[in-house]
Amino acid sequence: MAYLELRNLNKIYPNGFHAVHNFNLDIEQGEFIVFVGSSGCGKSTTLRMIAGLEEISSGDFLINGKRANELGPRQREVAMVFQSYALYPQMTVYDNLAFSLTLEGVDEDVIEERVYKTAKILGLTDYLDRLPRALSGGQRQRVAVGRAIIRKVGIFLMDEPLSNLDAKQRVTMRSEITQIHKEIGATTIYVTHDQTEAMTMADRIVVMKDGYIQQVGTPHELYFSPANVFVAGFIGEPPMNFVKGVLKDGCIAFGDQQIDLGKKFADKIAGYEGREIVFGFRPEAIVLGKQDDSYQIGCNVELTEMLGDNTNVYITVGDRQAILKVDPHDTPDTDSNITFSIPYESVYLFDGETENVL
Ligand code: ADP
Repeated sequence: MAYLELRNLNKIYPNGFHAVHNFNLDIEQGEFIVFVGSSGCGKSTTLRMIAGLEEISSGDFLINGKRANELGPRQREVAMVFQSYALYPQMTVYDNLAFSLTLEGVDEDVIEERVYKTAKILGLTDYLDRLPRALSGGQRQRVAVGRAIIRKVGIFLMDEPLSNLDAKQRVTMRSEITQIHKEIGATTIYVTHDQTEAMTMADRIVVMKDGYIQQVGTPHELYFSPANVFVAGFIGEPPMNFVKGVLKDGCIAFGDQQIDLGKKFADKIAGYEGREIVFGFRPEAIVLGKQDDSYQIGCNVELTEMLGDNTNVYITVGDRQAILKVDPHDTPDTDSNITFSIPYESVYLFDGETENVL
């Protein structure tokens, strides 16, 4: 196991593109960290700098307190699982698992013991004699994970390992990887663009955008206390609703209706009169009908999507659109006019210019 320190890491590619800016993070021994963000935000670049596959342009990377910038991938003792899990097609599952240990010259009996132990953890014991082509996508991915964990390294790096699987397999593998992590306890960094994977697997999530860290926190912290509009919109499905407007007499307009922030949020909006503010509320944080200690909004129902455990209700308020998540038994009729309440405690306010939370 290992603890990692990333100090002001920057990556400038040879073509001059600055892909990662001043990345700072301490990763504890045994922690499961997820880097999340849209495609191109610098997740893989950061992971590859940690792996030793990409040169660090500036900054310090420390493993167990020792500078590791100049160490090669092998010396860093990291194991990686990639999106394309590239098993050796002509080798059995047993040989695929054993391969790296054979290369390292580990004794045959030790290899056998480790292969069986790894296969057991991953539920692959019955498939050891098979070739990869005789396995399902999920089983192949498990072999790829197995090849990484069999090496017993302290740092486990995974780059979108589930993206080649179908939706059901992804959900199964998600919990399996979490379970394996609990069992082997290796410090793990996992890259994904999928906020659900991040929320369900991580001890802490690092949200990235355009090469910059936006926020680091537990899933709970990111969901309930987002630092800015980007994080608030990225974490949660469907995303948070935002209403942007210029503050006038303590109010902003939600379509043709006024939301009076002056009474309840006077402290937060002090100095914002005449400036832009973003008002945010989560689709699931509303109550249908009128309720005390809430903003009440009248709206028109455009469309409803019954998903089984909830219904997404697409609404318009004047010219504004938003989504409400309601109990399927309360699904309103399309084209009807309804009123919903946003409890004061579920309101998020952001600076319209910096987009930082107030
Ligand atoms: P992510 O993993 O978040 O999708 P990447 O780390 O792969 O993003 O890429 C971050 C940015 O760096 C992207 O804009 C990408 O186009 C750019 N990039 C990646 N590799 C190179 C390279 N070898 N040369 C120049 N730019 C690159």
